[in-house]
Amino acid sequence: MIDFKSLKIDALLVSSPPNVRYLTGYTGSNGMALLTQDTLTLFTDPRYDIRAREEIMQAKMTAQVKVATKPLWEAAAQYIQRKRLKRIGFEQNHVTYAVYKTIDEKLSIGYSLKPVAAVVEELRMVKTGDEMRRIRRAVGTNSKAFEAAAKRIKTGVSEADIAADLDFRMRKLGAEASAFPTIVASGPRTALVHASPTGQTVKPNELLLIDVGAAQDGYMSDMTRMLFLGKPDSKILAMYQAVLEAQLAAIDAVREGAGTWQVDRAARQVLKSTGLDKQFVHSTGHGLGLEIHEAPRIGKKDKTRLQAGMVITIEPGAYIEGFGGMRVEDTVLVTKNGCEVLTPTSKELMVL
Ligand code: ZN
Ligand code: ZN
Repeated sequence: MIDFKSLKIDALLVSSPPNVRYLTGYTGSNGMALLTQDTLTLFTDPRYDIRAREEIMQAKMTAQVKVATKPLWEAAAQYIQRKRLKRIGFEQNHVTYAVYKTIDEKLSIGYSLKPVAAVVEELRMVKTGDEMRRIRRAVGTNSKAFEAAAKRIKTGVSEADIAADLDFRMRKLGAEASAFPTIVASGPRTALVHASPTGQTVKPNELLLIDVGAAQDGYMSDMTRMLFLGKPDSKILAMYQAVLEAQLAAIDAVREGAGTWQVDRAARQVLKSTGLDKQFVHSTGHGLGLEIHEAPRIGKKDKTRLQAGMVITIEPGAYIEGFGGMRVEDTVLVTKNGCEVLTPTSKELMVL
């Protein structure tokens, strides 16, 4: 858990909603958790009183709920003084300067506020059994929706229509939302790494990139597949082969103890051998869970060593302006001796 001693704090104020959810199970929009060595307190307002207590119970957490009729920061500051907790850590990545000033003014002399790095995010990297089950469900949903939606894709259907169809199917399969705005890009637009779907219609002899994920029971999935309408020429096939081999090489490098940078390098080396490394403009992957992008980052500069139970994506790509881009992405569970690719969808270039 959190090492209060080495952080030199008596309590940690947690304000980032996914972190609050992780610690307490509470999913409402207004909530803040105060964590000490042996207590967990959730501050919320009267709108969420019943829901907070129910969700904490369902999540089998032991947080005490404090319902405040004033801003939560003020309520937390009062509680801190009443309990004489002196050194208060706050999440430096999530607290605005205005809020920092408010709470600093509310606390009297003798209390100190201390910025704390992403400690809850670090806890979240290794998933519990329950979290893994939820991620598996989200992965299953996005793959099933993809399979069904792919059958409808033909010349004349728009990117936006395909994206809407995927989103609708994921909802019907139990997702509460898409994990992120679904990406559907066709033709040269596939070179835009995070393309928003437009009214552009799918044309014969064009690439189609679909990047889709489901949010189900709070947990995310993420997958990218490439499709082609018509008969792909040798340039398309060679580029696809290179991206796929890069993805397989990175998956091969995943195991407990491997550095994230080593996994990234494995993908990059394959693309280098085919002259596509300069076209690979993002990192190889990212953790996911309660959020679509979580620690660790599978990139050149990340220094994390993988641990069994981490769930990450592996998604190298290559993008050529005016021509098109390709990416292949799976959601992967790190294990002791390797990994389990959770995404069941075939990785062959889907020719329609
Ligand atoms: Zn993705
Ligand atoms: Zn991703």
